[in-house]
Amino acid sequence: MKKITICVPMYNEEENLAVLYDKLDLLSKEYIGSYEFEFLFVNDGSMDQSLSIVKTLSKEDSRVKCVDLSRNFGKEIAMLAGFDYATGDAIIIMDADLQHPPSTIPKMIVEWEKGYQDVYGKRVTRHGESFFKKAFSKMYYKILTRFSSVPVIPAVGDFRLLDRKCIDSIKKIRETQRYTKGIYMWIGFKKKEITFEANERFAGETKWQFKSLVKLAIDGIISDSVVPLRLSLYSGVAIATFSFLYLIYTLITTLVHGSATPGYPTLTILLLFLSGTQLFFMGIIGEYIGKIFIEVKRRPPYLVQEFVTQEQTDKDDEI
Ligand code: UDP
Ligand code: MG
Repeated sequence: MKKITICVPMYNEEENLAVLYDKLDLLSKEYIGSYEFEFLFVNDGSMDQSLSIVKTLSKEDSRVKCVDLSRNFGKEIAMLAGFDYATGDAIIIMDADLQHPPSTIPKMIVEWEKGYQDVYGKRVTRHGESFFKKAFSKMYYKILTRFSSVPVIPAVGDFRLLDRKCIDSIKKIRETQRYTKGIYMWIGFKKKEITFEANERFAGETKWQFKSLVKLAIDGIISDSVVPLRLSLYSGVAIATFSFLYLIYTLITTLVHGSATPGYPTLTILLLFLSGTQLFFMGIIGEYIGKIFIEVKRRPPYLVQEFVTQEQTDKDDEI
């Protein structure tokens, strides 16, 4: 029998876990005899009761397992831990907050059976997200598709089913500065899009702060493209050409009309403009160097406190 791993990265999701588990359990009942399930939670340094809730669940249900990370590493890394520990023939990644409806899962399985290896969900509606977040995301995808060497599809996130082939491929990519959306595109394989209606977060607050969104946005562009570096070369050439033409123009007007008016404003503007551009591109180079710095340290992407399974919990109880 084929096994499907449902992987849920979680960070302070205590209010959602029981409902999520019930829905997943109900779903799995429809597949008794056809698929085996594994519910793999990745506890990304939660400070609430999330871990103990999952531990309790795993005592009653041997399908429930949990990778407990040593601290909060962020969702991108938590998902990598999920890929590492998943034992299924396919993995389905979903959020703990029920924004990804479990009712979409059967559709994904159908496509997987047809031979597709990466069945990804595309949001058709985004209930309960601020106007600001929607506008930001729209603008961002426009910029990202310009820069990236592999196209990233708007409104497609981590809610997807991946075949074992894809899982093994992603596991080989050990970057700590991860942009998983770019990685899905980079690995290739047979892809299929299905749509889903994103719900509102069931309980609790979104874990994303503006700061982490900006970081993810920058990572998206930087981790997959050297175009921004080239941009600095082009702009440098453009600005230098412009200054040279301006120089000739000033020379000629001075020769024809005599000394020009004192050029303080022009000078100031040019100076500010140039130092601004230089700082901007130094910043871009800095971003890349920062990434190199972090990657050359070759640290493991995450550390694990414990791997919670039913047998493990039983053993702990005996002691
Ligand atoms: N998450 C995580 N680590 C983090 C932040 C979030 O594992 O540092 C999980 C979170 O528990 C949820 C999923 O990632 O299951 C998506 O997070 P959230 O719902 O806060 O993001 P949004 O849906 O607002 O983009
Ligand atoms: Mg959410």
